[in-house]
Amino acid sequence: MDHFAWQHLDARRFDEGETIEIEGFITVVDLEARQRYFLLTPNASCCIGCIPRADEACIEVFMRAPIALGRDRVRLQGRLVYLTHDPCGWRYQLQDATLALLQPEVEIEEAERGPLRIGRRNFMLASVAAGLSACASEPPPPLIAADAKLTSVQILMAQPAVDMHSHAGRVIGTRTAIDPQIADQRPFVDLAGPMKAGGLAIVCLAVPSDTPVTREVDHRIEAMREPQPGELYRWAQMAYSRAHRLIDSQGLLNITDPASLADASYQTPGAILASEGADFLEGQIDRLDEFFRREGLRQLQLVHYRVNELGDIQTAAPRHGGLTPFGADVIKRCNYLGLVIDVAHGTFDLVKQAAEVCSSPLLLSHTSLLANPPPLSRKISPDHARVIAKTGGVIGIWPPTSTFPDLRALAEGMARMVEVVGVDHVGLGSDMLGLTTTSALASYADLPRLADALLATGFNAQEVGKILGGNYVRLFLASIQTAFY
Ligand SMILES: [Zn+2]
Ligand SMILES: [Zn+2]
Repeated sequence: MDHFAWQHLDARRFDEGETIEIEGFITVVDLEARQRYFLLTPNASCCIGCIPRADEACIEVFMRAPIALGRDRVRLQGRLVYLTHDPCGWRYQLQDATLALLQPEVEIEEAERGPLRIGRRNFMLASVAAGLSACASEPPPPLIAADAKLTSVQILMAQPAVDMHSHAGRVIGTRTAIDPQIADQRPFVDLAGPMKAGGLAIVCLAVPSDTPVTREVDHRIEAMREPQPGELYRWAQMAYSRAHRLIDSQGLLNITDPASLADASYQTPGAILASEGADFLEGQIDRLDEFFRREGLRQLQLVHYRVNELGDIQTAAPRHGGLTPFGADVIKRCNYLGLVIDVAHGTFDLVKQAAEVCSSPLLLSHTSLLANPPPLSRKISPDHARVIAKTGGVIGIWPPTSTFPDLRALAEGMARMVEVVGVDHVGLGSDMLGLTTTSALASYADLPRLADALLATGFNAQEVGKILGGNYVRLFLASIQTAFY
């Protein structure tokens, strides 16, 4: 369907009840009904509280179904109706509206021209959701004061804690099954219970899509064959619907935007859907939009255990010299949509090239520091870590007992990374139920003990809050700020 220009409204160049597609910006007028009823304007207004005048530059929108807000430039399809005696003075109404897709080429060009102006509005939505000033343009301040003296439990209550990489609840189906339906029969285990017991507010649930073509040999995972065309896409379809079943059955919030992020707490935990490896794209970038919109995917790890279409991995000989042109396109598309970009498992070359392309901070969700990592190691060097920090990003420290025998050692491992990159760039990536060894963080119920270990290592309450969640929250909001609509 052709694009409907705003000028057509005033000139009445449409038929009553005609179905049109139009692009514009969302202004929320009713917080209760915000996902279903809002105003659409041709330009972004200065802040979320500014309601446009009831003139031709405004359409009252009623969505067919609620939509997630947080990206406020949208293309909508709906029935355009002219109002003659509206008590509020609105002149145009879009009824039974649904989200429509923009043309990717056009969007990326536009995203490169001016994402910041739009990003500011996304931040405002976060600010409103967090009860902060609606017109502030800076990142939210730390939720814990620098001189606060808090216990570990008080820290976890004050600052939502985040596990940046996890397969908890058994989100992954049976690893050895090739048939997705058989893999999906693996029963879930409790996730919300340990989260609430330990005060974990947000879990990034990572869904791998290379599972059917990888195998575990001597505590290492490797690719064993090339996938059939469509095989990993079909696997991912099962895996994401499985992840949604887990989220629903555990009563977790599905976090997709700043507002739902702000709703998550130690009492009402939530999950962010993440992919471990972008193998399900099979080289087709439009699938990223599909999974973003249909499944609520909000964090994309580019590579996993297979040298895929996006780039090289730490655990196999490099083939691409780092990031591929397709990998760079996927990063730009993530920036456009507002996804967190995770470069875990990528080679140092891939990470350096990703940092050049990416306009948001990079996540490296699960690793640990080693002065000189040997070939094929998943650990990273200080220089590798500094590239992430330079983007404003965050590095998740993971807890296999082969590296950190207990929580005290894990806290010290986090402290060593902080020495290299600073306290604003370190977080937790547990890889819960995904490690090939036992874990120093065996259950989320142990999270207060990790906070205690961090306090004992010498961090103050504010710093512990940053490491255990604040840094990721900042990164998530910054990633959404680059979104163009
Ligand atoms: Zn991994
Ligand atoms: Zn993992």
